[in-house]
Amino acid sequence: MKILVVGLDCATPELLFSDERLTNLRRLMEAGCYGRLESVIPPITVPAWMCMATSQDPGSLGVYGFRNRVDHSYDGLGIVNSRSISELAIWDQVAREGKRSVVVGVPPAYPPRKLNGVSVGCFLTPDTSKDIYTHPAEIGNDINTLVGPYPVDVKGFRTDNKDWLGKTVLDMSRKQFEVVRHLMKNTDWDYFQFVEIGLDRMQHGFWKYHDPEHVLHEPGNPYQNMIRDYYRHLDEEIGRVLELLTDDTVVLVVSDHGARKLDGGFCVNEWLIREGLLVLNQYPEKVTPFSKLDVNWDKTRVWSEGGYYARVFFNVKGREPRGIIEPTEYERFRDEIKGRFEATTDPEGERLGTLVFKPEEAFRHVRNVAPDLIVHFGALSWRSVGGVGYPTIHVQENDTGPDDCNHAQFGSFVLASSNNPLQGEIQGAHLLDIAPTLLELGGYDRPQSMQGRSLVSGLEVSATAPAGYSAAEEEVVRDRLSGLGYIG
Ligand SMILES: [Zn+2]
Repeated sequence: MKILVVGLDCATPELLFSDERLTNLRRLMEAGCYGRLESVIPPITVPAWMCMATSQDPGSLGVYGFRNRVDHSYDGLGIVNSRSISELAIWDQVAREGKRSVVVGVPPAYPPRKLNGVSVGCFLTPDTSKDIYTHPAEIGNDINTLVGPYPVDVKGFRTDNKDWLGKTVLDMSRKQFEVVRHLMKNTDWDYFQFVEIGLDRMQHGFWKYHDPEHVLHEPGNPYQNMIRDYYRHLDEEIGRVLELLTDDTVVLVVSDHGARKLDGGFCVNEWLIREGLLVLNQYPEKVTPFSKLDVNWDKTRVWSEGGYYARVFFNVKGREPRGIIEPTEYERFRDEIKGRFEATTDPEGERLGTLVFKPEEAFRHVRNVAPDLIVHFGALSWRSVGGVGYPTIHVQENDTGPDDCNHAQFGSFVLASSNNPLQGEIQGAHLLDIAPTLLELGGYDRPQSMQGRSLVSGLEVSATAPAGYSAAEEEVVRDRLSGLGYIG
């Protein structure tokens, strides 16, 4: 079986499954199975897409976010690129069996991934008009000829210029889908995956206009339908993709995490200062990013990186250059700090419901330089603000520009395939289950090292119809599939 994966970054089950106007997606749901998909910790684009492709958790990949400590110094943060990940991905497994892949925009994909087939860079590509962003390199020229300069992202998507944002995201998405269909038609492939980043940008940019529950929502605003309209745009594009398929194709529409309203920012380093855990030589006169602060490392025990979640680091004797926490005290101290984070409150003094994770408990392996704690403020209803100089712990503004949505722990999936024995809504699926499931449905070997389970494991997976179907039932399923246009 061939395999097609359409990745919708940030597609949230509440929106993907509830809108009857998304007719192509609904046909896929009816033909196969679907459900919520639990993401990794943290549920962030990098590393989540590669956790999905490798069936390895973030600790096992040694990638805890876009930026990671490269050593135990105080400024050793490096940006992840495609070479940061050495585990075999699903397309490598496919290549081991002599089959070819096309992989478009699966982050981190710069420098372009060398694989048996074609790869196209993701939103981390600096400049597609100057850099080689595809493998083989000449495919980039074909793409630029087809759609003009190929957009991999909307630069400056955290903007107040919402008309521009909506138009620019849509333009990018249309061009990307055009390229996807071009590659589907003109390339020899057995495995095809595309990640559409536009939905993530739309939701970060428009959530408060869309969600009546958002603290800054204004009823009747002109952008109320932008997000739902974007799902309809995606549905139409997916419909045109499905038209190109043959009936021997496994189809998966999937997201790396969900989306939820953001109630505000929790100024984590500001809080650490008030708790006496982070000590500055001089408190800044205006809001200042953590990297520019004058930190007194001889008195600091804890500091943190901001972002959608907090990565919290300890200043440990013998590990950090000027560490002060005794290694023998480390575990007791970590439990204490975990408890203090869990007790954080909202502006009214109510508990936020903050979730705190120790890497060794969240991951099977802890590779490279992991945070000492990973913190989801208010279970991600609050983001983590790393800058210092705010008058309060809780803020509405964001240090990196307007953003009113956070990632949610549960993304979504729809899986349709003529040999898929699963039907209807599925509970309990995890992002790490995706690669083993696709490999099994596609008829490939599953590497032992994959950490997820195949959702169809132990069920009869046949090349034609699920075992146990009567002839009449088989007819029903075939009708559903032909309705999708991929049984001719
Ligand atoms: Zn994402």
